[in-house]
Amino acid sequence: MTEPVTPPIPFPEAARTALADTQLRRNLGHATHTIRAKRAGVVAELADWEELREAGRAIKERTLRHLDAYLLELEESVTGAGGVVHWARDAEECNRIVGDLIAAHGADEVVKSKSLTTEETGLNEALQARGIHPWETDLAQLIIQLGHDMPSHILVPAIHKNRTQIRDLFRRTLPNAPPDLSDDPRELAETARVHLRRLFLEAKVGISGANFAVAETGSVAVVESEGNGRMCTTLPEVLISVMGIEKVIPTWQDLEVYLQLLPRSSTAERMNPYTSVWTGVSDGDGPREFHLVLVDHGRTNVLADEIGRQALNCIRCSACLNVCPVYERTGGHAYGATYPGPIGAILTPMLTSLDEAGSLPYASSLCGACYEVCPVKINIPQVLVHLRGEVVRHTGTDAEHVAMRSLARVFGHRRLYEAAQRAGRFGQWPLVRRGKIERLPGPLAGWSAARDLKAVPRQSFRDWWRERERAGGQT
Ligand code: SF4
Repeated sequence: MTEPVTPPIPFPEAARTALADTQLRRNLGHATHTIRAKRAGVVAELADWEELREAGRAIKERTLRHLDAYLLELEESVTGAGGVVHWARDAEECNRIVGDLIAAHGADEVVKSKSLTTEETGLNEALQARGIHPWETDLAQLIIQLGHDMPSHILVPAIHKNRTQIRDLFRRTLPNAPPDLSDDPRELAETARVHLRRLFLEAKVGISGANFAVAETGSVAVVESEGNGRMCTTLPEVLISVMGIEKVIPTWQDLEVYLQLLPRSSTAERMNPYTSVWTGVSDGDGPREFHLVLVDHGRTNVLADEIGRQALNCIRCSACLNVCPVYERTGGHAYGATYPGPIGAILTPMLTSLDEAGSLPYASSLCGACYEVCPVKINIPQVLVHLRGEVVRHTGTDAEHVAMRSLARVFGHRRLYEAAQRAGRFGQWPLVRRGKIERLPGPLAGWSAARDLKAVPRQSFRDWWRERERAGGQT
C-alpha cells in the first residue's frame, strides 16, 4: 500500500533547499501578501465575524462528538435520495472502490474536480495503474498534473508557478496550445478551456471531492471559483464523490455558517462564484448514478486525540498558510505531504505517524497568526506544542527523559526550585558574559547553540518580595 502523505525527506532538509530558490520565494511572497491583505479587507466588513467563527467551531465540535450518528444519518439520507454510500477504511480501500466503479462502467478516462482527499489517498496513481486516465479539470490542478509536479498550496496548488512558467508548460504539453501562446491570463485560460471542453463532453464518469455533506438531507456541497467542478458533477452519467468522514455537518442550516466563513477566508470573496449542491439523483437532471465514498484513512485516530482532534474542524480555507512566516519562505513542497503550512504541520503527523512526519510540528515559530485567522478557531499552536511533546516522548533518549522528569520535579516544588536558583546563581559565573550565557557545557551545548540564556539575577523576585514584606511593604 502506498502512503502518499509520507514526507519524503524531513522538513528541515527540504526547507533548506526551498529557501535557496529565490524565484520560488518571490512568487510565494507576492501571492501570500496579496491574498492576506484582501482577506483582511473582506473579513473586516462583517461586524459578527467573531460570532460566525465561534458558530463554525461549535458546530464542528458537536459534530465530532457524535460523528458516528451523523455519518449513519448521512448514509440513510443519501440512500433515500437514490445514491449509494461506500465506506473506506484507508487509502487502498478508497482507491479500490473508485477503480471498481469506473471499471464497471467500462470507462478508461474520467474527469476530476479538485479533491484533497483523493490527493491524500493517491487516487490518480492508483487509477493509472489500472489503465484509467484521470483528467484534472481545476486549472491549477491541471497545471500540476501536466508538469508532473506536486501541489504546494491547498487552494492554489500551483502558487509556486508564475505565468511564464505556465505558458511554457502549456506550449510543451497541450496539443491545442498555439505556438505563439503568450503569458496573458486570458489566453492561458482559453487554451485550458478548449482542452477541457472535449473531456467534459466525452467523460462517462466524473469524480469530485466534497466540502460539506448535510446529514439531515443527504446533500453534498462543492464550492469553487472556476465552474469546472460543476461540469464534473453534472455532465457525466456517473458521479463519484470522495469525502473524508469529518466533512459531514448535521443540518442544512449549519451550511449557512460555513458558506459565509469559507469564501472570505480562502479566496477573499464575499461568496463563492460557484456553489454546487446536489441530493442523490433526479430523473432527467444531472448524473443517473451517484456514489459517495466516505473515507477514514487515519481520521478516527485523530479523533481519539483529545487535543489534536480539533484539526478535523478544518474547512481547508488555507488562510493559515497565507499568514504563516514559515510557509511564506519555504512553500508547500517542503512539507512533503498533501496538507502544507500550519494545518499540515499538525494534520499530517496525526494522519500518518510521528515516526514518518515527526519534524513537521517543529515547522512553526509558534507566532499564533494561524490561530487568529482560522475561521473555525483551531488552536494550531496548542496542537503543535502537544505534538512536540509526543515527539519527545516517542524519540527522546533515556537520559533526556530522566533530565526532563527531574526538571519537572524541581519546577513543581517551591523549595527545590529556590535551591536550584541559588545553586545556578553561584555555578553560572564562569559562563556569564554581559548578563547572558551564550554557550552551555557538555550535552547542554545543543540547546544553547540556537538561543542565549539570561543569567540568573543576583536577587530573585521572591527574595525581593520577602525583603519587601520584612521591611513592611516599603522596598
Ligand atoms: S486550519 Fe483553519 S485556517 Fe487553516 S486551512 Fe483549516 S480552517 Fe483554514
